[in-house]
Amino acid sequence: AAKRSGRNTFALYDEYMERDAEEQRSLERDLREAVATGQFHLVYQPVCSTHSGEVASFEALIRWCHPVRGHVPPSLFIPVAEQAGLILPIGAWVLETACSEAAAWPRPVRVAVNMSPPQFLQHDLCDQVRRALDRAGLPPDRLDIEVTEGLMLGDEEVVLTNMTRLRAMGVRISLDDFGTGHSSLSYLRRFPFDRIKIDRSFVQNLGVGTEARAIVHSVLSLGRNLKLDIIAEGVETELQLHELRMLRCELVQGYLLGKPMTMDDAVALLRGAAQGMEGRAAPQPTLA
Ligand code: C2E
Ligand code: MG
Ligand code: MG
Ligand code: MG
Repeated sequence: AAKRSGRNTFALYDEYMERDAEEQRSLERDLREAVATGQFHLVYQPVCSTHSGEVASFEALIRWCHPVRGHVPPSLFIPVAEQAGLILPIGAWVLETACSEAAAWPRPVRVAVNMSPPQFLQHDLCDQVRRALDRAGLPPDRLDIEVTEGLMLGDEEVVLTNMTRLRAMGVRISLDDFGTGHSSLSYLRRFPFDRIKIDRSFVQNLGVGTEARAIVHSVLSLGRNLKLDIIAEGVETELQLHELRMLRCELVQGYLLGKPMTMDDAVALLRGAAQGMEGRAAPQPTLA
């Protein structure tokens, strides 16, 4: 578009790109520092059963608090970390930390860890996962790994080998952001996933017309036929939750049920001390 509208626009575009590249380099430097000095922590978002209202698992989400920049969202720094080759040390830290924190929870609910393609495509991934689980004393069946469709652009054989080995250990693999990629359906046929997370863009349109409901309904029946668990992501309203319950979706995640919270708040929620955590836990009657 910049090219079409003439030379001036093109020059502006160049300048913009340059500033962008500079910002990229500065973020990269700061990320290196963050890895070296430990500026990350994890927060945990509950996944709840629509049936019982209970917390079924928590998804670990990384947070970076930079001394000057403040909170930098993962959507901004994960891509930089991937390009700069920093995602491997960061990913290893996330895995180790999530496993050891989950091992200390008062109830044996599962923890889900997000993995970027370069991390999941490592040849020794399974050994790394096993070591993290052993060190933490966490049984393998308490770990979920979430990957996105971007992974499937990598070496298919490595993906399959790692998935097969991890599943043989008892670790479960989820396909995150389902429906946002190009050929989600063919991936489901080729790779042995355990669960699908329906992207929040579909969930958010529930109750608005009938299209989103038809799509979510189809994914749910696909899940039943392929024996996959389905999690609906990004549930924000009672209306969306109601629609999902009518569609018999069993697992839900979103701000309505609970925002990503600190380790301490996650422990308190598991102990049943949800009352008083304003804005965090949904009132039980909506779920029961
Ligand atoms: P994701 O794995 O799909 O995680 C869900 C994102 O949606 C999280 O954003 C979460 O805070 C947000 N979310 C949850 N419920 C709601 C809701 O009801 N409404 C809305 N609008 N948003 C909701 P977050 O924590 O900013 O993470 C963004 C993405 O960054 C994640 O998407 C994941 O792809 C990536 N990410 C986060 N932590 C890690 C990590 O430790 N490693 C890797 N490789 N990627 C990570
Ligand atoms: Mg995820
Ligand atoms: Mg997602
Ligand atoms: Mg995502």
